[in-house]
Amino acid sequence: MISTVVGSYPLKEHYPNNLKNKILNSFGLYDEYKICIENAVNEQIKAGVDIISDGQVRDNMIKLIAKNIIGYKIEGNVSKISSKLRSKNLTTTANDLRYALKIMNRKLDELNLSKKESEKKGVKGIITGPNTMIHSSTIEKHVYRTKEEAILDLAEILKFEAKSLEDAGAKIIQIDEPFLSTGLVDMEIAKESINIISKSISVPLSMHSCGVIYNIISDLLEFNVDILDFEFAGNNENINIFKDYGDDLAKIGLGCVDTKKTKIESIEEVVNIINKALAILDSENLFIDPDCGMRTLPENVAFSKLKVMVEAMKTLENDN
Ligand SMILES: [Zn+2]
Repeated sequence: MISTVVGSYPLKEHYPNNLKNKILNSFGLYDEYKICIENAVNEQIKAGVDIISDGQVRDNMIKLIAKNIIGYKIEGNVSKISSKLRSKNLTTTANDLRYALKIMNRKLDELNLSKKESEKKGVKGIITGPNTMIHSSTIEKHVYRTKEEAILDLAEILKFEAKSLEDAGAKIIQIDEPFLSTGLVDMEIAKESINIISKSISVPLSMHSCGVIYNIISDLLEFNVDILDFEFAGNNENINIFKDYGDDLAKIGLGCVDTKKTKIESIEEVVNIINKALAILDSENLFIDPDCGMRTLPENVAFSKLKVMVEAMKTLENDN
């Protein structure tokens, strides 16, 4: 088993905290989010997580990607497509991943891990999927005839983002597609669009979907991805996929702490969920993670949930 996260981590207060940063700030050069990345990395490593994220600290999942694409206009919380989408050949996420990797390696040097343990460590690159990007944006008249046309165009652009994350050293890449469970998405176009991105990289590709996926799992199993990642702690229905689709499942990202509740799970509760998956899948096919991103949780709660999750995983590994 490998422990990981879905993505976002609570934000640290980000004012300039030392002389160097205060000087940079006075020249307009202070990147206030670097301290948030450092904090997210250090806390995830401290909790014992294997494949961490940069915390997705800079912006929400739509704006983070949209700001580097020509054709996107951000007005407050609304993202609009006002002309045909084109790549700016810029990436914020790959730069942040590179920085997270540097902080992680520094931290790991202090920890003296075994070779086996340190080989599991890495940083996950995260992209918001084209279906979720387009379905949460408005398209101005005549720019695209259909949302589906825009989705396929955007998938071509996101290849650049995926390749940049791979080149920056991502251990795996995750595409976030929370919209797949809403019923709004054309599943055939979704498969085609994810395949465009999947074919452009060689590191393992994971796809995260939020909410109840039991009803759409037969579709999701046809996506060209290596890992499917879902909520299982806050969602009783999803756990039935192990019983009903066990033979078809390959690698699963097993959300096993509820990211919508502040109550911290017991180790036993998490062990119970992992055991349901282990009854069907081999341990090397399981990625243990929280249900979803952790941005809205208090920082101490997010940390405690990750720690419990890792401890539950270790308990089971030590039993075998
Ligand atoms: Zn989610």
